[in-house]
Amino acid sequence: MTLGRKSPQGIGHGSCQHHHPYQGRSVLLTSMHGKQAAIADIFRSKLGMTLSCTTQIDTDQLGTFTGDIERPGTMYDTALAKARLGLADKTAVLGLASEGCFGPDPTFPFVALSTELMVFVDDERGLIVSESLVTHETNYASQTMMSCDDLNGFLDKVGFPGHALIVRPKTGSSVVFKGIQTDEALQDAMTRCACLNGGQGVIVSTDMRAHLNPTRMRVIRTLAQKLADRILTPCPNCQSPGFGTIGHEKGLPCLACGQPTHLIHHEICGCQVCDFREKRPRSDLRAWAQEGECAYCNP
Ligand SMILES: [Zn+2]
Ligand SMILES: [Zn+2]
Repeated sequence: MTLGRKSPQGIGHGSCQHHHPYQGRSVLLTSMHGKQAAIADIFRSKLGMTLSCTTQIDTDQLGTFTGDIERPGTMYDTALAKARLGLADKTAVLGLASEGCFGPDPTFPFVALSTELMVFVDDERGLIVSESLVTHETNYASQTMMSCDDLNGFLDKVGFPGHALIVRPKTGSSVVFKGIQTDEALQDAMTRCACLNGGQGVIVSTDMRAHLNPTRMRVIRTLAQKLADRILTPCPNCQSPGFGTIGHEKGLPCLACGQPTHLIHHEICGCQVCDFREKRPRSDLRAWAQEGECAYCNP
């Protein structure tokens, strides 16, 4: 996985903008959920590309958020499979798709965490460029309600009705009401689910599909900028587009004893085409670990 990597700084801007290889090209986005609204103008202004969107392809065959269809593989696999579905009929050679994942932050379980990943496929060069973004900027939430009164604080917290909801009985039925955007629809879904669940409550969740979730759409926009910057960054060795962070090296030295710690020491930047690799200091320029973070000083 390549989650949480940072864009390399100080490169990818300026001179290479004039001769980057995708100027005037079109790219096909596979999305059923209106993501072109967040991506098209970024790809136009940064890369000079025209984005078209295919909605003919049912990306739900690759799994859904609500779990009706299970998502096999990693986010990267799913996003890549989506982009490839768009290119399958060979009418386009440049493809784009994104994938999101939401849940509690493993470090702070009471805070929701959003992970978004976007993949650009260039079938001419045999190149795949991806970027990801991990952020607390999400309204992701899910709660069991015993009555409509329980909804009160929840609706403000998740930004309803600007953000849509999903309602389903906790037990007893597999019925799901998605894309709820009005008080009337919410009331109706709550009432129907309450009849079906045998007193176990109703699960109300945020609908994370991009066109129904403006907060997610903003994050996808930020990620599109990050991906465009990476596409603009040529490999210092072979000039292929998409040079950037491909991993990390741990071992940030302890300030007190100099021993390597488990913290990240360097970012490893790499090319998707040739074997060129470059070790760079952390993007936050932190050079030392504290004594308390050292397994030797603070076992
Ligand atoms: Zn130490
Ligand atoms: Zn290269």
